[in-house]
Amino acid sequence: MRKTQTRAIRLGGLTIGGGAPVMVQSMTNTDTRDVAATLAQIARLAERGCEAVRLAVPDETAARALPAIRSGTSLPLIADIHFDHRLAIAALEAGLEGLRINPGNIGPKAHVDRVVDAAKAHKAVIRVGVNSGSLEKRLLQEYGGPCPKALVQSALGHVRLLEGRGFYDIKISLKSSSVPDTIVAYRLLSEACDYPLHIGITEAGGLVRGAVKSSVGIGILLHQGIGDTMRVSLTADPTEEVSVAWEILRALGLRSRGPEIISCPTCGRTEIDLFSLARAVEDRLAGSTADIKVAVMGCVVNGPGEAREADLGLAGGRDKGIIFRKGKVIRSIRGQEALLAAFMEELQRLLDEKGGL
Ligand code: SF4
Repeated sequence: MRKTQTRAIRLGGLTIGGGAPVMVQSMTNTDTRDVAATLAQIARLAERGCEAVRLAVPDETAARALPAIRSGTSLPLIADIHFDHRLAIAALEAGLEGLRINPGNIGPKAHVDRVVDAAKAHKAVIRVGVNSGSLEKRLLQEYGGPCPKALVQSALGHVRLLEGRGFYDIKISLKSSSVPDTIVAYRLLSEACDYPLHIGITEAGGLVRGAVKSSVGIGILLHQGIGDTMRVSLTADPTEEVSVAWEILRALGLRSRGPEIISCPTCGRTEIDLFSLARAVEDRLAGSTADIKVAVMGCVVNGPGEAREADLGLAGGRDKGIIFRKGKVIRSIRGQEALLAAFMEELQRLLDEKGGL
């Protein structure tokens, strides 16, 4: 995996592109006018490892809530704005570090210039975000539909409006709900410019379908070295988006955060209720940032061997189970409840040793 070189830009205190680690982003789904609810959701996203948050700013009331939201969190914030340049300027004046706005959609050049000048003055980033569902009619007619080339041409058209005003702190996203189209579009775009790219699959679906589509699409792009920031879009609680994003990064060996939990799929050899044991361990480790590997396996025959690299493991057997560290058995316990209690004790010991939560 060799990362495509992009230019570096700054989103608040964070670097995007230029070889920086791929950044995990999400978007709130609270009403932005509700400051308390929005800040509570941002805090939950941050706990899961979200590194920048986008908020919809649909009207002036939402824009008026931005100063309070800005001062209530340290995460970089990006205002998602359509059509109204005044909302974009209000977001920048509130101290938000980024805008997601398409300059081609905000009216006359004078409006674009005002937004760009404000972004420069506030050292903010602008993301040009093109979706297959909102392509210009002209391009749809020229290409006969929202194909990858049309997406790229649309994005570059918006980018040129920013460049025309001497603005280059740009990142670009091209989203389609089709995984193959998204991959082709990003590949074409990464050949056409060196701006950092924000990757994701739009309207991916609920938790299972969305996680699969995003993992395939984002995973292939990352493996091709494309992508500087990412969002997994799910029809689910946004904290799930962050968890899935981290699992994609972990699976590719690009970044990791928090414990890795390995559990076997169970088979005819399994003689304990492994699902509930695995769930209890996952619940205990939810939100933990400790860099540990934990295995929950269904049998004493293959469990320790299959999970040899785990810092701590549990393997069930008939009426008893074993606890192992790095594949070596350290305890043998009778009864499922006692096994879980002993395992939690060992897990806490490991967490204390690692200084993690
Ligand atoms: Fe089956 Fe044991 Fe492998 Fe789990 S670890 S799938 S119980 S053989």
